Amino acid sequence: MAFFICLLAIKNVKSFQECIQKSSFYGREVFQPIRPEKFNKRDHIMRMKTKVGILGLPNVGKSTLFNAISQRSLAHAANFPFCTIDPNVSINPVADPYLKRLGSLADSVVTRPAIIEWVDVAGLAKGAHRGEGLGNRFLATLRECDALCHIIRTFADPDIIHVDGKIDPTADAEAINLELIYADLAHAQRRLEKKSCVNIERATLERIVEGLEKGIPARSLGLSSEECKIIKSMGLLTLKPVLYIFNVDEVDFCYRSQAMENSESILKSIQYCDLNIDLYTIVSAKLESRASQEDSNGKQLEYLMEELGMDFENMEERIKMEHNLSYNILPNMISKLLKLSTVYTGPGVSPSRSRTTKAYILPRSRQQQKTMTAYNFAGRLHGEIQKGFICAEIITAEDLLMHESYIAAKQSGSVRTEGKEYILAPNDVILIKWK
Ligand code: GDP
Repeated sequence: MAFFICLLAIKNVKSFQECIQKSSFYGREVFQPIRPEKFNKRDHIMRMKTKVGILGLPNVGKSTLFNAISQRSLAHAANFPFCTIDPNVSINPVADPYLKRLGSLADSVVTRPAIIEWVDVAGLAKGAHRGEGLGNRFLATLRECDALCHIIRTFADPDIIHVDGKIDPTADAEAINLELIYADLAHAQRRLEKKSCVNIERATLERIVEGLEKGIPARSLGLSSEECKIIKSMGLLTLKPVLYIFNVDEVDFCYRSQAMENSESILKSIQYCDLNIDLYTIVSAKLESRASQEDSNGKQLEYLMEELGMDFENMEERIKMEHNLSYNILPNMISKLLKLSTVYTGPGVSPSRSRTTKAYILPRSRQQQKTMTAYNFAGRLHGEIQKGFICAEIITAEDLLMHESYIAAKQSGSVRTEGKEYILAPNDVILIKWK
């Protein structure tokens, strides 16, 4: 349905660039520039909740992909002051179907998308769990992440050396998965040696060790939310959901469905992953990195079209291509993988107080179904707002957009008043009343 709405919208626009700006279904939200002076560190820290580690063997295309994502993020959100925090960390806005329209409804000057932080962890060598190839440092970085993106090389290029001398995606992925298992095993065993490890924590870790010794990742053990909570600070790597990313040849990227099928069959042959939890997709890091050197979004896509020999006039092909580029598809897949939901603030706030509409990601782990209360969310905004919490006005983004304004939505009775204990639902627009 949404696809047809999107196509109808496209019929009414003249140029491709316009099409990009008008349609948001495929994630082509055009991000409003964020003026550097608007940026404050607290906001940065508060919003930086979702962190994804990129890992894989050396020379599989991790940095190439990472750079492509960073550059495209910069290209899309020109003034994102915190796009690149350091050379190995990048912030990527999550494409959002509501944000821009909510921003216009609220007459905001600025819209701030939810963001995902990507961390490029240099190639994990075999033996990383024993500290080889700076292994321990890399693994420690990964422990702080919410999810892992495991890049697997399927592209063939004789000029790019493979650490084992041959392209074998199954063996490569298993080597990394085993490293993660070994690393967790050592980590859990070290913790079990401590006298302070007692009760549920001890029982949980013993269960995990037993599983890991059989090659079962911790996320496949069906741990309860209580068990997950008690070992959370350990950052066990095999507890994190994984997005497997197959870095395919440019031509394979063009024949997407075939490449996806091939990747799925490779994935099924890989040991130590969990097909009930983990997701997969394909990218062509090389193609994307070359395209990302073009300065404008339209030019980038034209470059890709030319490179892939695709039909320039075929709008549907263009939309699909744009949708499938890692800049768009990866944040969405991470949201799906982590079961993240988005809520919004801005509409309903007096323009004299704020002219910003913001999207926030609410983490909702598989084990921890319960998510954030209105009161906790108030605390996330500001301690003073939480302290003075009176009530929260709630309406879904979709409902609000159906009305011409926040006032109209209120007059129609669509805006509910909720108390402290209200649990925020996906796509809620929240306005906290406080004194
Ligand atoms: P990393 O060690 O996994 O970070 O790998 P890099 O991203 O540094 O890539 C290693 C080399 O492989 C570089 O020369 C890249 O240009 C090349 N490379 C990366 N992705 C691709 C790809 O999709 N196709 C081809 N042919 N080469 C690639």
